Amino acid sequence: NRQVHLVRRPQGAPVPGDFRIVDRPVPVPGEGELLLRNLYLSLDPYMRGRMNDSHGSYAPPYALDAPPGGGTVARVVRSRLDGFAEGDLVVAPDGGWQSFALSDGTGLRRLPNDMAQPSQALGVLGMTGFTAWWGLTAIGRPQAGETLVVSAAGGAVGSVAGQIGRLLGCRVVGIAGGAGKCRQVVEDLGFDACLDHRAPDLAGRLGEAAPDGIDIYFENVGGAVREAVWPRLNTDARVPVCGLVSGYNGVTEDAGGIHALLLSLIVKRIRLQGFLNADHLDSFPDFERQMRGWLDTGQLHAPETIVDGLDQAAAAFVGLFEGHNTGKLVVRLSD
Ligand code: NDP
Repeated sequence: NRQVHLVRRPQGAPVPGDFRIVDRPVPVPGEGELLLRNLYLSLDPYMRGRMNDSHGSYAPPYALDAPPGGGTVARVVRSRLDGFAEGDLVVAPDGGWQSFALSDGTGLRRLPNDMAQPSQALGVLGMTGFTAWWGLTAIGRPQAGETLVVSAAGGAVGSVAGQIGRLLGCRVVGIAGGAGKCRQVVEDLGFDACLDHRAPDLAGRLGEAAPDGIDIYFENVGGAVREAVWPRLNTDARVPVCGLVSGYNGVTEDAGGIHALLLSLIVKRIRLQGFLNADHLDSFPDFERQMRGWLDTGQLHAPETIVDGLDQAAAAFVGLFEGHNTGKLVVRLSD
């Protein structure tokens, strides 16, 4: 059983030396357990927080010298659990950075066994797609004709949030790293514009791309990007605060400006609301129905960055913080 172990807690940005490849015997399922072969592993920014020894947030730290948890699409290869058979395809919430995993069935979500693109169950039809859909529709409440700005627009959540906004009639401006990624966001995903956050004067370019101001800001990044967006929010703007990836490596650009930020909430009656997808899972079936419709009619595209082999997982995870991925990042472990 090939595993990637976390062997050292990252200091700042994660580096490949924080991880090690380890081979262990394939585990044997006991009574009431399944042996799963992981086909795809989801890599997500939240994992960085769980690599610290204390995590001020909502999930416990990952253990050292063990594979980090993480969602996988997996095939049942042995079943000693009623209701599951060999060959069943599932999403395992904690299949982890390894080739095989044991499960007692807790939290498993069934997929059609012949699903054409199972990796989508980790992205557009899974947690990141659901996050985009819920955050935008429940908190952003887009109206046709409004201007929506999405940060990390080329990533798993942002690419979907922006496209949903477009389908609902918004003018959509993305913010992403690099000219190439911005071009993809406009040409492949149909955003009206996309601004490179690494190029100078983001605030000025935002003024040109959103001349009527910003009605919804889907926040994935925080820091310098948020500082450029904030002064352009309109009265009654909505800000789904989904994530703040710019700060996850422990370096924050956010020293000043917080007071002005909070004051502007009052002056402009802005509703600022954080959310966790896990609290809203009763909406998952509605999400799945609507998303499948958009995918099946080709109205929504689901970019993925697929890297091959568990050996590449650590490098790919490091790349999440350098913008190497477009769309949902997954590791292909086995066909
Ligand atoms: P992405 O696929 O968007 O990957 C992360 C991207 O963030 C990178 O590709 C990079 O793109 C961008 N980025 C990284 N560092 C910075 C920085 N310093 N400044 C600007 N951009 C940066 O990841 P996800 O779609 O999975 O996650 C997006 C956000 O959503 C994260 O903040 C995550 O924590 C949050 N999230 C929240 C959930 C919830 O329930 N609230 C659930 C799932 C995700 P670029 O090239 O554009 O710089």
